[in-house]
This record gives sequence, C-alpha cells and structure tokens, in this order.
Amino acid sequence: MFEASVHNESDLMIDSEALLEVEYPVMEHFYTIQGEGAHTGKAAYFIRTGGCDVQCWWCDVKDSWDESKHPGVKVSEIVSLVKESGAPIAVITGGEPLLHDLNALTISLKMAGIQTHIETSGSSPLSGNFDWVTLSPKRFKKPTEEIFPYVDELKVVVLTKKDLAWAEENAAKCPDSTKLLLQPEWDTPGSIPLIVEYVKNNPQWGISLQTHKFLNVP
Ligand code: SF4
Repeated sequence: MFEASVHNESDLMIDSEALLEVEYPVMEHFYTIQGEGAHTGKAAYFIRTGGCDVQCWWCDVKDSWDESKHPGVKVSEIVSLVKESGAPIAVITGGEPLLHDLNALTISLKMAGIQTHIETSGSSPLSGNFDWVTLSPKRFKKPTEEIFPYVDELKVVVLTKKDLAWAEENAAKCPDSTKLLLQPEWDTPGSIPLIVEYVKNNPQWGISLQTHKFLNVP
C-alpha cells in the first residue's frame, strides 16, 4: 500500500476538480479478469499507460513504449469509464506507469470508491495512492530503493537461473508481509521446471501464472 501525501480533507475537496482535468497517455483500457499474481481471478479494470524506458526484449506490449503514440485521456473520463463498468478495482499498468505522476488519477479513482492497484518495474519515482503495489523488478533497469517498503507483492519474471538470484536480491529488501511470486516467461517453457523445483525448495515463494492467456481474455 502506498498513499500520496494529502495534507487534509479540505485540500482534497478544493483540488478534486483540478485533478479530474489532468491527462495521461493511455494505450488501452478494458474491463477484464486479473490474470496474474495475488489477485488472480478478480474482476478489474485495466488502464495501460503509454511510455516505457525499461524495454525488456521479451515484452508483449511493445506498442506501449512510445508515449507519443498514445493520446492523452482526462482523469474525469477514465474515472467515468471505470465506474460505468462496475469494476471494484482499477489496475494501473503499462508501459511503465511510474513515468507519470499518478497522484491525480489514483486519488480521483479512490474518491470514486474504486480500489487502486499498480504493476510496475519500480524504476521511476513512486507516486500515487495505492491499495496494492505489485513490483516486477527488471535486472537491467533496477527499482528505486524508495519503493521497497510499500511492496505488497513481488512478482519476478523468470527466464533463467540468474532471475532467481535477482528475485532473492529484491525479496531481501521487501517487508516480511510481501507476497513473493515467481512467474514463468510465457515463451520460455524451460523456466517452468526451474521455478517448480525452486518453489519446492524455497516454499516462501509461490508461482504466478498468466491465467488470462489460458482463458484467452485480454
Ligand atoms: S517494463 Fe513492462 S512494458 Fe516495459 S518493456 Fe518491460 S514488460 Fe514491457
């Protein structure tokens, strides 16, 4: 959980209209089922922001990388879409969502009664107001140290043994309460036996599967 600093309730009321005018580059948004991690199986509205400076070679949303390709959408419109969908949770993902100051979007969503989750590599400064923070750290663009106290779920994509060491390096910086998950990279079947054996020997870790791909939902 991470909460942006809001001085008091009246600040929030005065500023709320201005927050609704803020725009974010949105690549896509859709109401679906969370397919990964601790909240797998829950209905959630995904908001995929444009822009990513991490650039994993195995990324399956490379279209998100160039922020200029994705038009700005006002917070007011995003909040309306989520509310109309009936989704109890909004998942902010990317791209790398922390390239943007997420305070306006997340505070507005929460004021509308919607829970806010983020999925991030943590490589840019933390902003926003979140009920659930999922850190998916990348070896070649490391997370900032400031994010670790707020990590509810550490989800490490595994391709090779090096990623297991990387997972432990990050887990050591997270609170004891953090849910620890290893996720096989979809197109690297060799990662599955590696993870299964590792979790059997290190049961503080669990496995996250991309169940939306099995279900064939976005
Ligand atoms: S951080 Fe996410 S969006 Fe960016 S390149 Fe890696 S997998 Fe793709």
